Amino acid sequence: MPKLFIVATPIGNLKDITLRALETLQAVDYILAENTYKAKNLLSFYNIKKPVINYFQGSGKTTRAKIFDLLKQGKNIALISEAGTPGISDPGNELIAEVIEKFGDKVEIIPIPGPSALTTIASIAGIPMQKFLFLGFVPKRKQKKFFQEIVNSKYPVIFFESPYRIIKTLEKIQELEPDLKVVVARELTKKFETIYRGTLKEVINSIRQDKIKGEFVVIVHRV
Ligand code: SAM
Repeated sequence: MPKLFIVATPIGNLKDITLRALETLQAVDYILAENTYKAKNLLSFYNIKKPVINYFQGSGKTTRAKIFDLLKQGKNIALISEAGTPGISDPGNELIAEVIEKFGDKVEIIPIPGPSALTTIASIAGIPMQKFLFLGFVPKRKQKKFFQEIVNSKYPVIFFESPYRIIKTLEKIQELEPDLKVVVARELTKKFETIYRGTLKEVINSIRQDKIKGEFVVIVHRV
């Protein structure tokens, strides 16, 4: 039975990959990659030579037809996203849904777990994380509703943000509820990894003083 492996890859440091992920990438016939440049970088670091097919959310019918054709031929395929775990604000689920619809249980869907910016920040939160709300990216539209959801939550809220908007976003939350606290992680597992903790005011000031670059993930909390 053909297999579709959903493989988590590093969120920065290339050594953050499981042995099983490497074995899987080594063993499959094809690798579907959201970002072929990053995929090739990772694969060459581990000396893995495999055909890579560009697959991203919204990939056209031709690409999807090619993937379904390969599965029909009995090929094993691995899906990787640009970084971290596919399906977490990344492509994966729409392909899985289509594979289930087309093939039912004739294609095995196998998760190969590993890093994610979501679980990485949760792991260093330093506050109770038995329950939390994950909201993905700050949307470009309907932001009011998004920020309201954050301040109304009785659980810590995790979201992703870009370096261009991080300060504005924290300021908007501060306007709604100045007493909330945050953990902001920049460039997790990378050279310039920085963790900011404190009140919104303190963290906004610290981020302002640093050069605002890199990728951010945020926890807003009350404790
Ligand atoms: N599926 C990915 C995962 O499991 O980590 C998340 C994909 S989402 C498209 C990318 C966003 O995750 C970035 O814009 C950033 O907000 C966050 N992110 C990814 N890598 C990160 C890192 N090394 N440090 C901080 N945030 C990161």
